[in-house]
Order: sequence, then structure tokens, then C-alpha cells
Amino acid sequence: MADKRTRWLVTGAAGFIGSNLVETLLKQGDEVVGLDNFSTGHQRNLDEVERLVGAKLWQSFRFIEGDVCDPAACRLALEGVEKVLHQAALGSVPRSIERPVDSVASNVAGFVTMLNEARKSGIRRFVYASSSSVYGDHPGLPKVETQLGNLLSPYAATKRADELFAQAFSVSYGIECVGLRYFNVFGPRQDPNGAYAAVIPRWIKNLIDGDTVWVNGDGQTSRDFCFIANTVQANLLAATAPNLPDKHMVFNVAVGQRTTLLEIFELMKSALVKRGVSCADSAPQHRDFRAGDVRHSLADISQLTNILGYRPTHNITDGIAQTVDWHVGSNAR
Ligand code: NAD
Repeated sequence: MADKRTRWLVTGAAGFIGSNLVETLLKQGDEVVGLDNFSTGHQRNLDEVERLVGAKLWQSFRFIEGDVCDPAACRLALEGVEKVLHQAALGSVPRSIERPVDSVASNVAGFVTMLNEARKSGIRRFVYASSSSVYGDHPGLPKVETQLGNLLSPYAATKRADELFAQAFSVSYGIECVGLRYFNVFGPRQDPNGAYAAVIPRWIKNLIDGDTVWVNGDGQTSRDFCFIANTVQANLLAATAPNLPDKHMVFNVAVGQRTTLLEIFELMKSALVKRGVSCADSAPQHRDFRAGDVRHSLADISQLTNILGYRPTHNITDGIAQTVDWHVGSNAR
């Protein structure tokens, strides 16, 4: 019988979201090519996926160390591939404010290079990571896909530029493009280290290590935190939906619930205390608001629900429980 397995390309495969996509695709029996230049990703993420999927399924994974700005690396990675999940980019608003040209290189030049090679190699649909940052200063809540504000950071500009290029490529070359506007994704393998670490992994690590937890602002800043399993689900739906109403579409990817920074601090603290971490007396320290951050964020997920059949499987409490388990476990390893 002919081999019916789908072959996927996941860019940014050594990163947080990319490595979770690789894990899910291998577990469902597909073949996966991963492309990453290890700028913010880690070999340890791939090693963990190998452990989790086992030696047999791991044989269906091929890793290419390379840069999405390099057309030859993109072409090599695309060989025999049917579906692309493009995650490679330099994340973080503060990083982009400090080093805007680096963000533009990976997030815009790299994006267009990958998209161009994908359409030349005959890829029918290109699914890519956009961001809720494209909503900028638009005051409306919840955020709906059609209502954009002024951009607040170079990072947001790179993601908006990606959406514009995807739209133009869909018209110019007929390639279907689906942009997923992620809202604060969190979960296992999200990097807790470094100046640009996201709030959830950084705070969990701070609490485990007994370090100060810093809150930027009054702690009432809110986000629609989205557990990684929901984000993976959205990617698979976007890549496999048989028909889409438009050649280029963007979807919010979130849960549709808003949690403040202080609420999330309490959730992670109590999850850690339940697992024997002695942080019950820990209280966050406040400092100035951070440039480029939006005050409140909440997604309208009805488009993703109605068109792609998305149903978030994890709310914030479920997600924090699994994330804390991972951090406590990896600390013990
Ligand atoms: P991550 O830093 O863990 O993963 C990104 C991966 O891309 C890394 O492994 C990095 O080495 C790789 N990479 C970066 N530039 C590259 C290049 N030029 N060539 C090849 N590989 C490159 O970050 P993540 O949280 O997994 O983010 C994945 C995607 O989702 C990014 O596009 C990011 O902008 C987007 N996003 C993430 C969030 C979130 O909350 N995590 C929110 C909105 C959007």
C-alpha cells in the first residue's frame, strides 16, 4: 500500500511553538522536516521531543540547521513537503525595540524568502505565525480580525508586514495563506531564561528559584493567555481545512478569556505550592510599565470557531497546571 503520510515543514522547529508542533505531528504518524538556526531555539527542545515520541517515530523527523533568510536552506527544507507551518521569527517586543533590524531580517526578509520558495515549490497553503501585537493601540475589546490600530513596536510592524506580503502573494501567485494571530501562548518548552523571556515561564522559574518576581506596572494589565495545545490545534485546522472562504485569511488564536498579571501570578503560585515548591509567601514587586506593551488584550475567537471548527481544549488553569508540572519536572531532571 502506498505511504499516505503527510510531510510537513515546521520552521522554528527548535523553538517553543515549533517543537510542540513537531511533537504532535510525529505522534499522529506524519513525517516532519524541521528548519531552525538556533537563534532563540534550543537543541534540548528537540531532544525532549525525541524522548517523548520514541525512537521509531523520531525516524520520521529530519532536521535542517539553517536560516529562513537563505533561499537554498528553504528549498532544501521544502523538498517533498506538502504543508508548511512557518513559526521561525525573533519574538519579543523589547528585543525589537532594541534591535529592530534583526527582527526585520528574520521576521520579514526571512518570511518573504520562505514564502517565495514555498510558492515556487508548489505549496498549496502556507500557514504562518502572526501576532496579536498587530492590533496595536486599537481600543476595542475583544479584538476582531478587521479592526487594527496604530502599531506600537517594530515587532508588531514585522508581523503586520508578513500579513501584507501573504495577502499580496495570494493574489500574485495564487498560494493560499493563513495567518494565525497568536495571543500570549504558553506551555512546556517555552524558554524561561534571558532578557526577553515571556512572563509565564519567567515567573515560574523565579518562584522556583526563590528570585524576585517583577511586575511591569500595576499588575492589572491583562492578556488572553493561550495554552500551547490550543495553538497546535489551530495550526492543524488551518493547514487541513478543505476549503477556505478567501485565499488569504487571518484568525485570532486564543481562548477568549482575559486574565490579569496579578491573577496569573496567584494561579502559578498556588499550582507550585501544591507541587511542594515553597513560595507561598512570595509577593510580586512592581516597576514601571514597559514600552510597547498594550494594556489589555482579549480575542474574539468566533471566526476561528465558526470557519475552522476550533474548540479550545485548555483554559488558563488547566494550562498553568501542565506548564508548572513541566517546569518542576525539568528542574528535577
Ligand atoms: P521561539 O523563540 O521559542 O521560537 C522561534 C524559533 O525560530 C526559534 O527556535 C529560533 O531559533 C527560530 N528562528 C528565529 N529566526 C530564525 C531564522 N532567521 N531562521 C531560522 N530559524 C529562526 O518563539 P515561539 O514563542 O515559539 O514563537 C514562534 C512564532 O510565534 C514566532 O513567529 C513568534 O513571533 C510567534 N508568536 C509567538 C507568541 C507567543 O506568545 N509565544 C505570540 C505571538 C506570536
